[in-house]
Amino acid sequence: AVFDRVEQVEDKIRAYITLNKEQAVARARLVDKARAGGEYLPPLAGIPVAVKDNICTNGIRTTCASKILYNYIPPYDATVMERLNACRAVLVGKTNMDEFAMGSSCENSAFFSTCNPWDTGRVPGGSSGGSAAAVAAGETVLALGSDTGGSIRQPASFCGVVGMKPTYGAVSRYGLVAYASSLDQIGPLARDVTDCALLLNVICGHDPLDSTSAPYNVPDYTSFLNGDIKGMKIGVPREYMGQGIDAAVKDIIYKAIDVYTGLGAVVEETTLPHTEYALPAYYLIAPAEASSNLARYDGVRYGYRAKDAADIVDMFMQTRSEGFGPEVKRRIMLGTYALSAGYYDAYYNKALKVRTLIKADFDRAFEQFDLLLAPTAPVTAFRRGEKLDDPLQMYMVDICTLAVNLAGIPAISIPAGMAHNLPVGLQLMGRPFGEGDILRAAYAFE
Ligand code: GLN
Repeated sequence: AVFDRVEQVEDKIRAYITLNKEQAVARARLVDKARAGGEYLPPLAGIPVAVKDNICTNGIRTTCASKILYNYIPPYDATVMERLNACRAVLVGKTNMDEFAMGSSCENSAFFSTCNPWDTGRVPGGSSGGSAAAVAAGETVLALGSDTGGSIRQPASFCGVVGMKPTYGAVSRYGLVAYASSLDQIGPLARDVTDCALLLNVICGHDPLDSTSAPYNVPDYTSFLNGDIKGMKIGVPREYMGQGIDAAVKDIIYKAIDVYTGLGAVVEETTLPHTEYALPAYYLIAPAEASSNLARYDGVRYGYRAKDAADIVDMFMQTRSEGFGPEVKRRIMLGTYALSAGYYDAYYNKALKVRTLIKADFDRAFEQFDLLLAPTAPVTAFRRGEKLDDPLQMYMVDICTLAVNLAGIPAISIPAGMAHNLPVGLQLMGRPFGEGDILRAAYAFE
C-alpha cells in the first residue's frame, strides 16, 4: 500500500532519494508468512520505515544529499538500522534532506528539493524534510530523522506530524554521518504519539559502538500513554512567545495551553534568560564541529573525486570545491575561522561558555516544572525559494529549537492546529531522559 501511494504522489512530493522497493516487498512478504504461521513477531515487524539519507544502510546508497557522497554505499548498518532489522521492520527508502543536515527547508539538497504535502509551493522544513513529508503524504508509516538544531521537530511542525529529538546519548549515533557530534541525535517521525513511542522503544538504548551513548534502562515508552497529566507542572518560557513569533502561531499555542489547563495541568509563565544567545552560540559550535567532521571528505576515502588534478593537494581542493554545496562551504569556513588560533577563545570558547549558561537555564526551570511548552517554529511552512538568498533568515527559523540541542535535553513537536491553512507544531521539552513525561503530555493533548 505504501509503494502504491509512492507511485501516486512521489513525483509531486519528492521525499525519497533512493527507494528500496524490491527488498522491502520481499521482507514484508516474509513477515506476512511468519504471521500466518503463528510465529511470534515484535511490534514493528512488517511496518514500513523511511530513513534519512545520512543514516548508513548496508549495501544501500547513503548520500547525505551531497554530491561528494553521491555514490557512497556503506559496508555496514547504523545501530538504529540494525535494531530496525532485528525487529523486522521494512525499509521503504532513504529520504531527502539538506546537504549534510545543514539547513531548514530541504532546499540545500544537492539533488532536488522536497515539497510540503499540504501545499507543494512550500517547503517541508528541514533538514529532515524528506522524512517528514513522506510520513505526512502517506509514503511511509514511520520515519527516522536526525536533529542537530531542530531538524526533526521543525519539519514535523511544518508537515503536521509528530517528531521527537531524544536526550543526547539516548540513541546511538553509530552510523549516523556526523554533522555536529555534540548536538546530533537520531529520532522518530510518526503520524501520532503512539507510533512515535513504539519507534522510540526500538531505537533507544546503550551502544558500546558510540562512546557518547548513555547506559540507562529504557522503559516501555507506550506505558506512559495513559492520558493522566493531573497536577503536572508545565512552564511557558516567555522568551519563546515574544517578538518574531507569528501571531497566528501564538494563538494556537495559547489554545494548547487552555487544553492543558483543562486536563488538570498547572501551566505558568517562566523564563529562560539566555535564550537570545542560543542562535549565535549554535552557529559557532555547530559549524566548528562540522568543519572538523567534514575534513574526511578528501576524494581519497569516500565518494566523489575530481578528475584531472595536477597533484594530491590539487585533488583535495578540486574535490571539495566541486563536491560541497554553497551552504556546506559557508559552514566549513565559519567553523574553521571560529577554531583558528587567534579567534578560538573569542568565538569557540565563548560559545561553549554560553552553552553552559543555556543548560543552567533549563536545569533551573526543571527544578520547578516537569515540562516546558513553546512553539516549535516561529512561522508556518514558508514558500520555496523565499529564504534561499538570505542565510540569516533561514537560520532564524530555528530559534525555538536550537537551545534544546545545546542543553542535550529531549523535546517533541506535535500537531497543535492550523494557521494560514498550514499545520502548527507545539513543542514540549523535558528533563534529560524524561521522554516518558513528554510522551505522556503529548498523548494527553492528542
Ligand atoms: N537548521 C539547522 C542547521 O542548519 C539545524 C539543522 C539540523 O538540526 N540538522 O544547522
